[in-house]
Amino acid sequence: MSVKDNLDHIKQDIKEICTSVNRKPEEINIIGVTKYVSNETAKEAVQAGVYHLGENRDQGLLEKSEALENKVTWHFIGSLQSRKVKNIIGTVDYIHSLDRIALAEEINKRSSGKKVKCFVQVNGSYEKAKHGVHPDEVLEFIKNLEPYPYIQVVGLMTMAEHTDDERVIRNTFATVSELKKRVQALKLPFAPCTELSMGMSNDYKIAIEEGATFIRIGSALVGSKT
Ligand SMILES: *Cc1c(COP(=O)(O)O)cnc(C)c1O
Repeated sequence: MSVKDNLDHIKQDIKEICTSVNRKPEEINIIGVTKYVSNETAKEAVQAGVYHLGENRDQGLLEKSEALENKVTWHFIGSLQSRKVKNIIGTVDYIHSLDRIALAEEINKRSSGKKVKCFVQVNGSYEKAKHGVHPDEVLEFIKNLEPYPYIQVVGLMTMAEHTDDERVIRNTFATVSELKKRVQALKLPFAPCTELSMGMSNDYKIAIEEGATFIRIGSALVGSKT
């Protein structure tokens, strides 16, 4: 299967799911996760019409962005060490892994006077090994971002547990979806929080049903090796 075939298949899925839950397919942005694949395969994705790409390492992001035309919107989706911020800040359009104040401080400091679009990563699966702010602490965490004028909280991001139990996955996505509404209700000027980054190859259908606006698709789109 080519990337184009995979994309057509995913788009068809999105259409059907949106119809069933009364959403518009245009609300769903596909981020092609290229961390497993070559520059060539990433190019193939762009040629097929995927304009959002995601990487989870600073080197991968820099290498791919150099190899690709600048029409790509770049997403950093991995856990981010503060000392790596300076490497990616000039290249990345969205950071999906804001999960601690020290990181906000560093992003703010390196922003060179431009607002940086960030998702606050939430540990919606309550797994000990997972990164992200505990769901009970998300509202407080976001309020505490006020002193950092270049941080803009565009939404929340989460990863579900790797399991076949659909109820467990849905519960994570529903929890974070509900939290997003509560953040929006605060009407903080620095945290419009209109977006939800959730859903990967194995669970994007459930994520869309629960309100995802950005789905992060690696293996189902570009494969996992090239
Ligand atoms: C790798 C990765 C993905 C994509 O995973 P697939 O299961 O291959 O779709 C999505 N989000 C994050 C944070 C990732 O690290």
